Amino acid sequence: MARVAVVTGGTRGIGEAISSRLKSAGYVVAANYCGNDARAAQFAERTGIAVYKFDVADLAAVQRATEKIKAELGPIEIVVNNAGITRDGTMKKMSREGWDEVLDTNLGGCFNMCKAVWDDMLARSFGRIVNIGSINGQAGQYGQVNYAAAKSGIHGFTKALAQEGAAKGITVNAIAPGYIDTDMVAAVPANVLEKIVARIPVGRLGKAEEIARGVLFLVADDAGFITGSTLSINGGQHMY
Ligand code: NDP
Repeated sequence: MARVAVVTGGTRGIGEAISSRLKSAGYVVAANYCGNDARAAQFAERTGIAVYKFDVADLAAVQRATEKIKAELGPIEIVVNNAGITRDGTMKKMSREGWDEVLDTNLGGCFNMCKAVWDDMLARSFGRIVNIGSINGQAGQYGQVNYAAAKSGIHGFTKALAQEGAAKGITVNAIAPGYIDTDMVAAVPANVLEKIVARIPVGRLGKAEEIARGVLFLVADDAGFITGSTLSINGGQHMY
């Protein structure tokens, strides 16, 4: 039977590409979103992928949603923690609310999703978790202490949870995208974006599909020896 994959923030941008790619590869996909009903409806109609509206920052909502997905589609064996937001500002201007929102969504959401599916993955002795971090969690970025902290946290979270899942058939990996052409990057002022692209050795922004390709690789049944890894997909911008 086809494995069921939940992609958070799976109806737009990078998540949309991940959901579509997983579906094309034969997985049964549940795409989550939070606020943009119009985009989710268009996505569902175009792709035939089931969409589920819930806030990843709300553990109770996540638990209700994962129960619903299980009842409708089957046991959840793959989770792609992709939902993320920015609330940029320098330390001088950043509010505590802007800090909390980004940490609760980007990092808390990751915890909530893993918490909701972990016991079932342990019971089934199989799981694939991919967390979408960021180049800015690896390298830092001016005006993004909240986002960089959350994304850097994702990389630590990944390595720690990978150790808990390793002997149980559950892999936990991260992808650290560089700058990808999505709505999130479209919000960056043109003059700043020009400087960013100038620093990317490949000479362009990445495409959402180029991140989806990495996800497909990491969730494969025969990727069981890859865990606790971070796959950097950034056009050569930041090399470890
Ligand atoms: P977009 O802003 O294009 O899409 C974000 C998605 O996340 C949307 O589907 C949105 O839902 C969903 N979302 C936001 N908040 C929540 C929430 N609380 N609960 C559930 N879903 C939520 O982002 P990108 O596609 O650009 O980014 C995807 C991921 O990749 C993020 O984690 C981002 O940090 C990361 N990333 C992106 C990079 C880039 O260059 N674009 C670079 C490095 C990392 P809705 O449609 O309802 O708003």
